[in-house]
Amino acid sequence: MMTEQTQVMVITPHPDDAEYGVAGTVARWVGEGKDVIYVVCTNGDKGTSDANMEPDELARIRKQEQLAAAKLLGVREVIFLRYPDQALEDTPEFRKELVRLIRIYKPETVVTVDPYRRYVWHRDHRITGQVTLDAVFPYARDSLSYPDLLKQGLLPHKVKEILLWGSEEPNYRSNITNTFDIKIAALRCHKSQVGFALHSDLEKWLRERAKTMAEGDDFELAEAFHRVEIWW
Ligand SMILES: [Zn+2]
Repeated sequence: MMTEQTQVMVITPHPDDAEYGVAGTVARWVGEGKDVIYVVCTNGDKGTSDANMEPDELARIRKQEQLAAAKLLGVREVIFLRYPDQALEDTPEFRKELVRLIRIYKPETVVTVDPYRRYVWHRDHRITGQVTLDAVFPYARDSLSYPDLLKQGLLPHKVKEILLWGSEEPNYRSNITNTFDIKIAALRCHKSQVGFALHSDLEKWLRERAKTMAEGDDFELAEAFHRVEIWW
């Protein structure tokens, strides 16, 4: 099994979530020479208010939209796991798949969605965040977790840092002042979703949010995360 070193792995529930959560930071990192890859867990085939849309067609459209957004941001590779939308579960299979990818790509930083947001939170988001945290620790780290992966040459890997977007307890702000416009452009690649967005004036709403997230810092616009440094 071939392995390779990447610096950042973004694990996202649906096509478009990573653009809301971390695209400004991804664009900045790529500009600084970092290597970023995406793992998209579901195919997004329920994300529409159009009752006449066929799920397979929507999944096909959303894959293309995600590829376009990733290309714009300079993401090197996008891996689609293709679980059905609204059907993600905390299964041994899903956890092992994430461990396998972490061991192949050996990221220093894993970015995903905070699973601990209370009350109203998309189930796929909660599960993606939780299973990603479990995959990072202890399953990717421990050599006896998956003897079959070890036999394939996929050695244990220690992730150094986790960033969680959508957190109710952000403790880390990332400067996206110079990449906010690319974030918006990447979001607009998700044409099937932009009309489905929370606010009609997406850019204005996101700019206000990014300003709020940067309050107290010496930059104008931010994305906010709960950051966990892992001391092994
Ligand atoms: Zn989502």
